[in-house]
Amino acid sequence: MGQVVKIISIEHLTHDVIRIVAEKPVTLTYNPGQAVDLSINKPDWEQELRPFTFTSLPGDEHIEFTIKTYPDHNGVTQQLLSLNNKDQLIIHDVFGDISYKGEGIFIAGGAGVTPFIAILKQLEKTNRVGNNKLIFANKTKADIILEDHFHKLLGNNFINILSEEERVGYEHGYITSDLIKKHTDEHTKYFYLCGPEPMMQAVEKHLSSLGVSDHFIVKEAF
Ligand SMILES: Cc1cc2nc3c(=O)[nH]c(=O)nc-3n(C[C@H](O)[C@H](O)[C@H](O)COP(=O)(O)OP(=O)(O)OC[C@H]3O[C@@H](n4cnc5c(N)ncnc54)[C@H](O)[C@@H]3O)c2cc1C
Repeated sequence: MGQVVKIISIEHLTHDVIRIVAEKPVTLTYNPGQAVDLSINKPDWEQELRPFTFTSLPGDEHIEFTIKTYPDHNGVTQQLLSLNNKDQLIIHDVFGDISYKGEGIFIAGGAGVTPFIAILKQLEKTNRVGNNKLIFANKTKADIILEDHFHKLLGNNFINILSEEERVGYEHGYITSDLIKKHTDEHTKYFYLCGPEPMMQAVEKHLSSLGVSDHFIVKEAF
């Protein structure tokens, strides 16, 4: 049993990422970094629950999601692309392992940046962005979600790495232990990881080779 909410707006942020704003269920509570199981209130789709992270803040009037869609694959995200502000979503249970513990480096792959959108929004609101850094791995520049936003918020503490495009000002390839080491300084206490499983496994190996203890790793696989 979930709560039915009306969609307020849907817009594209990149070629395959959309931002959905919807009504906030009256009794809903969540923390920045948490996700919720969501389904579409349409025949055949109400039971198709998928997890998405709130990119709004708990105190906001509405809820917002930032969703990478798979247009060629007959799934929930493909359906979301065909919705408009007459449609409804169903909001189910809230969960999620990522929360802010202290300064460090956020390491995201693709849509894995969504918990960090919420956490950094919260830090910005409370003037605590400090020396936090974001290493954001994508295939190409066109895939970077909210590039301008992060650039304004973090300046040189926003590091992009592109696996399928070489560009001046952007690291190239996959995240390495050298790249993590290069950006680790006296302010780095925690490492926050979120992205696809293979990327997570690789980054965890790098952190372990750098001697980072599990206690300082906060993570969730997408
Ligand atoms: C806790 C948590 C929070 C999350 N938060 C977010 C979020 O905020 N934003 C976000 O974008 N995602 C998020 N995700 C990931 C998101 O849940 C999935 O991308 C989503 O469930 C995909 O649903 P789907 O029905 O479209 O695809 P599904 O049918 O569930 O299949 C999706 C998978 O199929 C693969 N695929 C893509 N195209 C094809 C194809 N043509 N044929 C076969 N397989 C294909 C993709 O690799 C994809 O992972 C989160 C995941 C978790 C676990």
